[in-house]
Amino acid sequence: MGLEDTYRHKGLRNQLVQLIRRKGIEDERILTVIQTLPRHWFLDTAFLEHAYQDKAFAIGEGQTISQPFTVAFQTQLLALQKYDKILEIGTGSGYQACILAMLGAKVYSIEYNEVLHQKAQKLIQQVNLGGMTKLFQGDGSRGLPAYAPFQGIIVTAGAPTVPNALLKQLKAGGRLVIPVGDEKVQTMMRITRKGETTFEQEAFEQFKFVPLLGKHGWKN
Ligand code: SAH
Repeated sequence: MGLEDTYRHKGLRNQLVQLIRRKGIEDERILTVIQTLPRHWFLDTAFLEHAYQDKAFAIGEGQTISQPFTVAFQTQLLALQKYDKILEIGTGSGYQACILAMLGAKVYSIEYNEVLHQKAQKLIQQVNLGGMTKLFQGDGSRGLPAYAPFQGIIVTAGAPTVPNALLKQLKAGGRLVIPVGDEKVQTMMRITRKGETTFEQEAFEQFKFVPLLGKHGWKN
């Protein structure tokens, strides 16, 4: 499959960026990468109308690519700096991972589902953004201890609680952005590591994610 991008796609992305801006995303770097990265490459059937609506969309295996506003919101909460080492839990389509890489992060992203992992791996090689993105397959609710600590951890599936395993893998000053709640609705949380044993917790808006599975998730 060739990865093409047209003026029509660019125009639709421009409208999407304006919408996300109106919804309260102020970080221009984030708006710029959303404008730049073709989201339609990450959708199964490349339906134009779906790619540039502010909606989640099915990517197979019962999973979804997050809504663009959600991607922007979580990315803004991460407050990342260039060269930060970031762990993403739930690679899914690979879209969020690419956004982080385009912002200059060193991205480690882990996906539980083998099929989605393989698909994202292939796509990310094709997209070739120049940034660093390493994909892993496994239970991300345990984090990725072999590569810890991270300046940021972003969980893109809904968790029942904040896994301790993830807090331990944060650098001092590092941020964990994670939606926590029941299966229906989750509150976006940001936990910042202030010191060895001190953490600051902030709560934001409510979202609806697919469930985080695995040891520290909803099991399976
Ligand atoms: N960030 C993705 C959207 C992910 S949807 C994107 O940009 O497209 C949530 C993903 O989390 C799903 O693909 C699901 O398979 C995955 N997931 C659920 N539990 C997981 C776990 N314990 N470890 C890793 N990935 C998990």
